[in-house]
Amino acid sequence: MSFDLSNLVRCTETNQEGFRCRLSPTHDGPHAWDRCPWTDRRGRGCILPPEHPGDHELFWYDLPVEVGATHRMTYGGSRRTSTMTADRAAANARAHGWVERSRSFELGWLWRTAPVAQLLGSIATPQGSTTVIYEYRGPEVSGD
Ligand SMILES: [Zn+2]
Ligand SMILES: [Zn+2]
Repeated sequence: MSFDLSNLVRCTETNQEGFRCRLSPTHDGPHAWDRCPWTDRRGRGCILPPEHPGDHELFWYDLPVEVGATHRMTYGGSRRTSTMTADRAAANARAHGWVERSRSFELGWLWRTAPVAQLLGSIATPQGSTTVIYEYRGPEVSGD
């Protein structure tokens, strides 16, 4: 895991879509999410930072698609952290009509090399990625 200095000088709050607050850790008042405030007529938000150049961009799960369309996403990290990221992303995608169809975890290539994995195994957590396939069921998703 890499050390991110910005974590020390920024508020650690994230909103439900994963945007970090860009204010200092001790700020007063509401959080300021680090994203462009633009939304389209259906209220879908732009995923780029504030004051970005060029066109606005929507999340993959906000883009207009046919019912039954699939989308593949990969989340990196250890089994535990990538599963947590996938859980959050899946809940978010679900709110936009995408249900999870399959999920799998695969170790990174380094960890699939037996001698290296043995060497690193005692000092580090195996890293890899969780892949989720989503299917679009339309805006009215309910239950399981
Ligand atoms: Zn904040
Ligand atoms: Zn924008």
